[in-house]
Parts: sequence; C-alpha cells; structure tokens
Amino acid sequence: MDGDRVGMRYMRAMLGARGRVWLLTAVVWAMAAGAFVSLPHSAVSDAHALPAWLFVLLFGAAEVCVVHVHFRGDAHSFSLSEIPLVLGMFCAAPRPLVAAQVVGAALALVLHRRQSVQKLAFNLGQFALSGSAALLLFHQLGGRTPLDSRAWLMAGSAALLSALIGVVAIVTVISVSQGRLLVDRLSTVAVLVGAGAATNSSVGALAAWIAWRDPVALLLLLLPTGTLLAAYRAFVVQRRRIDGLRFIHESTRILHASPELDQSVLDVLAHACEMVRAETAEIILFSPTDDGVAVRWRVGGEGGVETTDAVTLGAADLYLAAVAVRGDAATLTTAREDATIRPALERRGIRDAIVAGLRSESRMIGLLVIGNRLGEMSTFDRQDVRLIDTLSRHLAVALENGQLERSLSQLRTLQQRLTDQAFHDALTGLANRTLLTDRIDHALRRRGDEPVAILFIDLDDFKTVNDSLGHAAGDELLKSVAERLRGCLRPSDTPARLGGDEFAVFLEDPGGLGEAMTVAERILSSLSSAFHLQGSSVHVGGSIGIAMGIPGEKAADELLSDADLALYTAKMNGKATFEIFQPRMREAVQHRHSLKMQLKRAVANEEFVVQYQPIVRLGQRRIAGAEALVRWQTPNEGLLFPDSFVPLAEESGLISDIGSFVLERACRDAHRWAPDGADGPLGVSVNLSPRQLVDPRFAERVTETLRRCDLPPSALMLEITETTLMRDSVADVDKLQELRALGVRLAIDDFGTGYSSMSYLRQFPIDVLKVAKPFVDGLGTSAADASFTEAIVRLGQSLGVEVIAEGISEPVQLELLESMGCQFGQGFLFSPAIDAPAFSRLEPDMAAAPTKVLA
Ligand code: C2E
Ligand code: MG
Ligand code: MG
Repeated sequence: MDGDRVGMRYMRAMLGARGRVWLLTAVVWAMAAGAFVSLPHSAVSDAHALPAWLFVLLFGAAEVCVVHVHFRGDAHSFSLSEIPLVLGMFCAAPRPLVAAQVVGAALALVLHRRQSVQKLAFNLGQFALSGSAALLLFHQLGGRTPLDSRAWLMAGSAALLSALIGVVAIVTVISVSQGRLLVDRLSTVAVLVGAGAATNSSVGALAAWIAWRDPVALLLLLLPTGTLLAAYRAFVVQRRRIDGLRFIHESTRILHASPELDQSVLDVLAHACEMVRAETAEIILFSPTDDGVAVRWRVGGEGGVETTDAVTLGAADLYLAAVAVRGDAATLTTAREDATIRPALERRGIRDAIVAGLRSESRMIGLLVIGNRLGEMSTFDRQDVRLIDTLSRHLAVALENGQLERSLSQLRTLQQRLTDQAFHDALTGLANRTLLTDRIDHALRRRGDEPVAILFIDLDDFKTVNDSLGHAAGDELLKSVAERLRGCLRPSDTPARLGGDEFAVFLEDPGGLGEAMTVAERILSSLSSAFHLQGSSVHVGGSIGIAMGIPGEKAADELLSDADLALYTAKMNGKATFEIFQPRMREAVQHRHSLKMQLKRAVANEEFVVQYQPIVRLGQRRIAGAEALVRWQTPNEGLLFPDSFVPLAEESGLISDIGSFVLERACRDAHRWAPDGADGPLGVSVNLSPRQLVDPRFAERVTETLRRCDLPPSALMLEITETTLMRDSVADVDKLQELRALGVRLAIDDFGTGYSSMSYLRQFPIDVLKVAKPFVDGLGTSAADASFTEAIVRLGQSLGVEVIAEGISEPVQLELLESMGCQFGQGFLFSPAIDAPAFSRLEPDMAAAPTKVLA
C-alpha cells in the first residue's frame, strides 16, 4: 500500500491527469497484447462457430444497452458484454472474438456514446485486456463444450474475471486521473459486478447450449431477450424520468425554501451536481445594465467550494453564452469544441460540460454550466442535457424574480432615505423646516377654530460651546437637546430643528395658550440642567418664543415669523425665559434693527466715550482707582448708557471693537493719572464681555495695549461678571491664568447675583470680588442683605481677595461696609462716572464728599 502511495505520488508529480491516464492506457494495451498473443488460434469446435460479424453486432449492442442498477443510493452501470463473451467462448475462435469485441465496442462508444479519444482508447484497451484474460482462463481451465455442465462454471469464472478486470481498470483510471485512491466502494461494486457477470454468463452459456444443439433455435431466444431488454429499458427510462421529476421538484423547493437567494442558488447547484454526477456547477448572472459584470455562483471544482462573487465577463464567456443562446442546453466537450469556447471551459478546468442559457421572457439573463461528469469513463447524455435544460428554465424565472425583488427593495430603501433626508434634520433626526411648515400648513387648513401653537427655541450659549469645545461637542449638544425636547412632548407634537441652535416645536392641539406655556416651561426646565459633553459638564439655557395661530387667520410662514419675534424678545429680556408673541414686538424689533445699524456706524465713527467712576479705599476714603464705563455719544439722542446698547453690541459682535476701544482708552488715561510721588499709576478697572474672552488672542491684545500705553500690568484690573464666569466654559481656568500671568488683576463683577459655589470660586485665579449693587442697596434696611454682604466680605478675607462694594449711595451703607471691614467701595455717594479730565481733577481724598452728603 505504501509502495502504491509512493508510486501514485511520483506519478502525480511527473505527469498531469491526462498524461497519467494515457500512461495507464498504454499499460492496459500492453497487458492486453500480452494476453492476446497467448490465446490459442482455433475455436473449441469449428463446427459450431458463429460468424464474426454477429459478435461485432452483439458486442456493439451490449455497449449500447448498458444496464443501470440503482443500489443503496448509487447508480451503477454494467455492460451486457459477458453474454456474447461466454457465447463466443464456445462458438468462436478466441482471437477473432477479442477483435470482434474491440470493434463492436468501438462502434458503440464512438457512434452512440460519443466518447472522447482518450476515454475510447482506454475503454477499448480495457475490453481487449478483460476479453483476452477471460478467454485465456477459459482455455486454461479446459473448457470445451457447453453441453458439459462443468464448462458452464469455467465460462462463468472466466466471465467473472473479465468483469473484475473491468472494475479494477476503471477504478484505477479514475484514481489516476483524480490523483487519489478510490478503494472504499470497490467491494460493493465488485459484488454487483459479480452478480451481473453470473447472470450474463448464464444467458451466454444457455445461448451456446442452444447453438450447439441447433443454431436456428437461437432465434427462439431473440424474442424473449429482446422483450426483456425493451422492458428493462422502459423501466430505466421511466426510472430516470421519475428521478428527473424529483430533481426538478426538489430544485424548485430549494430555490423557494430559503429567503437568502444566494444560498438557495448554491444549494440547487450542489443538487444538480449530484443528480447528473458532475464535478462542478456554476451560474453566471449578467448584470441588467450589460456592463460586462456578472454575479457568479459556483459549487464544486477545486476544493469543493461554494462561492458567490462578481466577475468580469471575458470574450470566451460571451462565446459560451452565444452557444447557449442557440437553442436548448448543449453538451460541450472541450476537446471537440472550437477554439473560441475552449478557453472559457479550460479556465474552469472543465473537460466536458452541459451549458444552458438562462432566458427570461425578453432576453438572456445568464448561463448555467455543469462541468465534468464524475465516476465513469462516460460523459453527460441526452437525458442529462434535457434535465439541465428544464432546470435552467426554472432557475431563470427564480433568478429574475429574485433580482426584481432585490432591485425593488433597493429602490424602496432609497426612496425612504431620500424622503427622510428631504424632511428630516440629518444630525438630530428631528423634522426640518420643510416638514414643520408642511405640518403647520396642514393643521391650519384642516382644523376648525381650535388654535395651534408654535414654539421657537434658541439655545443661549451654543456658540460658546462650539467655539470652546469644538464642533464635535456642539453636535453632541444638539443631539442631546433634541433628545430632551422629545422627552417634553406628546407623540402628536412635532419637534423640529431649523438650523444651527434653533429648534421649534409645533403643538397641533395645545388646547390653549396655557398649555403652550406649560410646555415652554417644561422645555426650559429640561434645558436648564447640565449637559455632559466630552467629560465636562456644560450649562446652556434656552429662550423660547411662542406664537398662537387660529386656522384661516394666518399662514404657516406668518406664524413662524411671529414665533421668531417672540423668541428674539425673550432673548433680549434676559434669556432663559419665554415670551408670547404680541403685535407690538414688530415695532420693537424694527427699533432694535435701526439701533443696530446706528451702532455699527458709531463703531466706525468712534462715537464712544469712556467715563470713570472712582474706586475708594474705605476707612481712609481715598481714591484707589477707577472703573472705566463706556457711553455712547449719539448725534441725536445724546449720551446713551451701556444698558441700552451693550446687549445689542454683544449680540451683533460689535462689543469686541467697543471693548478694545475702552481698554485702549482706559489704559491711556490711567497712564496719565500716576499721582506725583506715588508708587505707580492709579489702577483702572475695565469690564469684559464674554465675547472678548472667547478670542484666543485676547491675552496677546491686552499685552500689546499695555505696552502701547506704557502702563504696568498691575495697574489694570479686568472685570468679569459672575454669571459669565459660571455660565459657560468661556472663562475657563486656563484662560484666566493666562491673563493673570501677564500681571493683570482679575475681579468678579456683580458678585452675589450668580450662583457660584465655594469650590468653583477657589478654582478661579481672582484678586477681587465686587459685591453687587442690590445687596449694598439693602444695607441699613434689610437684615438679610446686611448679613449677605458681610458674608461676602468674610469670604473675601478667607480667600485672601479684596472686596469692592458697588453702588454705595447712602452714608449708612458706607458706614456699615466700613464696620464690616470691606476694603473698597464705589458709588454715587463718592461720585458718579465722569469723563477723564473731570476725574483727573478729583481730590484723591474722598473723605469730604460723603461727609458733605452725610451732613
Ligand atoms: P458694572 O460693571 O457693574 O458697573 C457699575 C454700574 O453701576 C455702572 O453703570 C455705574 O454707573 C453704576 N453705578 C455705580 N454706582 C452707582 C450708584 O450709586 N447708584 C446707581 N444707581 N448706579 C451706580 P453703567 O455705567 O450704566 O454700566 C452698566 C453696566 O454696563 C456695567 O455694570 C457693566 O456691566 C456694563 N459696562 C459698562 N461699560 C462697559 C464696557 O466698557 N464693556 C462692557 N463689556 N460692559 C460695560
Ligand atoms: Mg463693572
Ligand atoms: Mg457691577
């Protein structure tokens, strides 16, 4: 066995499959020749010899009427050649008999089975060998007359030898061509072949017996044998037909059984391979656009794989398609087909094939190729071709439907996506303006006199988050806002994103204004809690504008613009609130609009002036510094105070220019106030807007200004309101540190109006707390304000920062503050803000002024 394996491996290494088969064929022929020359010349009895042509006919017929036996699920086919062989043992000379067998079989294999040259050469050699060997054995055993019953046994043994040689030869040639030993089924096959040989030799011996008695009586045998054969053939045909029907039925079942088209096609191909005993099967499905790309399903072939892939069709495939398109399925054998198709088959490693076109009603949609008949030295027959042809029709229908379904579902998905894109905001998935307007329009047209409500929502500090934390954080915030909005609404309400940080909610059935206000409050409260973005928690409030509409009164556009105006007003009124639309809001907006235009001009024309309010060291009551406060010197309305234009300037971004102007002017003026003999100039305090702090180059600008004005950094104090500091990430600690590193001092303005926590405060590098005016106002009248102010003073002391009390206007306030130990103060009691020349004329000693007021 080991030697066999080594030999096999050696052969495999040396030759290709075809070469190995040719080599084996040569060996078989050589053995046949050896046996042939050893055969005796004469027949058993010349008197009983039958003519050679009769044996040619009989052997030919035996190969045509191959008997198929189905045994344990396998199909085996046997030739009936032992019948003429045994008859010939008694009634013919050995050598002419072998010659007649070879010629008869050759005629049948060429004309009937259309075998290839290689298969033919091997099969004929195999017949010559098995025939010669059988005859040799028969004569060696001393077989003489069929009238002697022992001779029947001899003939039977010889026939058995012939059949076994045939089996061994075929198993060997298949093993050689496939490069592996096929011995597992040898015993089953040998038993079947033995049974076949016994039957055949009995019939042969009987015929010989009759021939010896009276050759004419052989005619009596013709009819029953012919009838038997015909009946058998009818049975075989019927049997194959039933198998074929079963196959088609099973294929159809497989095709429709699985929802996965790919898998069912592969299953059908595997099934087809089994049915026609083929090695490989493939389907090529052309693309509907005729772009030369095809989907290919393949089973079998190298490694027995199952694959689905996309292939580009070559010219040879197209020729193959052309062959298939000619008519029904066609069998093709590589060697015999013309050069145009051969490459397509050879590339697939196909020797013999059935090719069928897959035709839809209007065109050819693909190809079905079944390749390489397995097992025997035969190829596909007409019945296989018919079967595959039927299969191809079923497949064409299934595939076309499958493809249709696939494209339909793709189309539906695409349509759905396009619709979604057209009506929804991609980031948040909320309705977009188009869908919102559509819903409002629809509701306004449909409903009777029930009002609808629209809420416009704007985030108060979205831009800051975007600028400081980046766009990814901004997107995340918008998504979270969308989520919270959804959580505040009923299913019948429509939340929408209109762009940027603008959201809207359409309440189709609010019941009334009260309900709309409740929803607005719910939204505001939901937005007021912190958002967690990229590890930091961020506070962004929202402002809401509400507009109500009665069907028939207003169109969607108008309603949207009303809500927009209400929102604008809400933002102007201090944010984090909602406003309900009133017609007068239009005028207010127009007024603001013209104001904004004027402000723009004012920046260009430098219509701003800076006034200074002294900051007084309490106790000593001497001027310690000044707070710079901007005023707008309008051409028509006189001097305007910051409250009337700073919010507008912040909103329009003009505040940056105004802020730079104030900083420059304050530093320039402060430089001039250096009192003679003092250590340095009087400190000046400048208010900052959040917008200025966002500027990444702000610290740089401050440094440049200080240098230009020749003011030491220690003489400048920057004020940031507590709300700005707490509200957002504008004034992040790093930024403040950067400013502080310049030597500039930092103050928290309007302290007490925000909600800073102790721990938060400690984080910021501040030098000064400014107690907000409302607390100072209450000093002397409100015990709560007094204790609160005192608490701030203590807090300042414990944090090691200075405290300035703002808005001191009553002597009692001053006295209380001094008694609390507050270090600094400013207010009308000392002086309102005055212009620079007036400020420089002020007496540094402020003790007189309050005393005067006190008196
Ligand atoms: P602030 O920084 O808290 O300034 C103090 C405000 O209180 C000033 O109002 C000042 O005139 C006023 N004030 C001081 N003492 C008294 C008093 O005894 N009684 C009363 N009734 N008021 C007093 P002003 O100048 O109208 O400024 C208002 C706010 O505008 C400032 O509050 C500040 O936040 C902002 N602001 C002023 N100038 C600028 C600036 O150049 N840039 C920026 N971003 N904001 C500025
Ligand atoms: Mg201030
Ligand atoms: Mg203040």
